[in-house]
Amino acid sequence: MSPQELVKSLRSFLSPEAVLYETEDMKPYECDGLSAYRQLPMVVVLPQTEAQVIQILQLCHATQTPVVARGAGTGLSGGALPHAQGVLLSLAKLNQIIAIDPLARMARVQPGVRNLAISEAAAPYGLYYAPDPSSQIACSIGGNVAENSGGVHCLKYGLTVHNILRLRVLTISGECLEIGGESLDSAGYDLLALMTGSEGMLGIVTEITVKLIPKPEKAQLVMAAFDDVLKAGNAVANVIGAGIIPAGMEMMDKITIHAVEDFLHAGYDLDAAAILFCESDGGAEEVADEIKRIYAIMQQSGATKISTPQDEAGRLKCWAGRKAAFPAAGRISPDYYCMDGTIPRKRLADVLRGIEALSQEYGLRCMNVFHAGDGNLHPLILYDANQPGELEKTEEFGGKILEMCIRVGGAITGEHGVGMEKINQMCAQFRTGELAMFHAVKAAFDPSGLLNPGKAVPTLHRCAELGAMHVHRGEEKFPELPRF
Ligand SMILES: Cc1cc2nc3c(=O)[nH]c(=O)nc-3n(C[C@H](O)[C@H](O)[C@H](O)COP(=O)(O)OP(=O)(O)OC[C@H]3O[C@@H](n4cnc5c(N)ncnc54)[C@H](O)[C@@H]3O)c2cc1C
Repeated sequence: MSPQELVKSLRSFLSPEAVLYETEDMKPYECDGLSAYRQLPMVVVLPQTEAQVIQILQLCHATQTPVVARGAGTGLSGGALPHAQGVLLSLAKLNQIIAIDPLARMARVQPGVRNLAISEAAAPYGLYYAPDPSSQIACSIGGNVAENSGGVHCLKYGLTVHNILRLRVLTISGECLEIGGESLDSAGYDLLALMTGSEGMLGIVTEITVKLIPKPEKAQLVMAAFDDVLKAGNAVANVIGAGIIPAGMEMMDKITIHAVEDFLHAGYDLDAAAILFCESDGGAEEVADEIKRIYAIMQQSGATKISTPQDEAGRLKCWAGRKAAFPAAGRISPDYYCMDGTIPRKRLADVLRGIEALSQEYGLRCMNVFHAGDGNLHPLILYDANQPGELEKTEEFGGKILEMCIRVGGAITGEHGVGMEKINQMCAQFRTGELAMFHAVKAAFDPSGLLNPGKAVPTLHRCAELGAMHVHRGEEKFPELPRF
């Protein structure tokens, strides 16, 4: 179908403002948070109701037109990158909180609702929605489901998949599926888990029932500075080893500390090689006891400075710095490339040393800020896209970090998804049999491959061409990578 015919068909059931096809109107949709990749779609649609989404999908199915879903476009792996011959389906206008049930502690929301808006709406009942990506002020709950997003407090409270109960999902042919349920278990295959993190490749999420939990009575933070990242890494292991599950445990390295302090003046120790943030929440007595234990562990682990903000404003200021690490990177470099890999906690110091070695080898600075408690790294490679060849060099550096994560027994994503960015590393993470199973699942939902084509799961042909040697669960080695 030609672009003109497609626009005409879409306008038969959508208002003119809901169908964008001029280049200048579509520009804001050409990339997500990973701005290194850009592509204009054939047309952008902005439906306001589920019924309109069904009609759009039916039209795309009938005309075999690719469809890429988009929430708020904050994704960092190119998941919402448009398809040149396809429809970019924005869910931003499906933004109603349908119901809050404080007794059952759940909320029914549309996919375009912002993550933070759910907690704001639940606050009068003393409840909140726990997963808190640093982008929570902007990102949509539909995008969170599609990426299985995490955040600072997911160490204790779980990822998106642990905090949702039910989904309404539309297949590419416009059929409505209701999966999951309001009880803890439901019959049949666990399609709720399958759909969560499926990156818009299996269906379009049009309604989400989320769990709400009571706001903890108290939250307190220990901030510990170390003169060596190895000691900070060991402190993380020591806290968990002592049987404490902090509400959040985050780490920033020296370059990040300086970038954030210049930006927000949060009062961080500029002499530190690493700062560890460790939060406890719950009842006042429980928190006081846990903070005392965390404090002692930090001392025993060799912290050079330990502080505990005494009031809520001080605690929030410390977290504001951590949450502003990405914008702080944007202030010290024309461009940054955010990686997202997961490693076993005990390999933290080794991997940080490996990243440092790669940084020297490629001549590119790298900031490290991460969810230390769950071993989820976010190296931010600083580069300048205007320098010829620098983006390619950055991509190669990032790829090597991910392969290093696999080699130590970790994974190429912790929360940002695979999207376009990590598709080649999927060939290193998985065996042919596993990739074939992913393709079989995709085909069961979307036989023509119209939903978000070319993302997340590489073709077997692509992997063969790359000649990737897989390093499934650290069994095989990449001899060319630095050893620690
Ligand atoms: C500054 C910054 C900080 C961040 N911090 C974190 C963090 O701490 N933790 C974290 O996990 N992520 C983080 N992110 C990444 C990002 O915010 C999350 O991945 C978020 O869930 C994306 O939501 P979105 O609405 O922007 O989705 P988009 O970027 O619009 O889309 C993401 C993916 O979801 C699909 N999708 C969107 N809506 C739907 C739907 N309704 N149905 C089906 N598929 C859909 C898209 O096709 C795409 O594949 C951060 C990003 C930024 C820019």
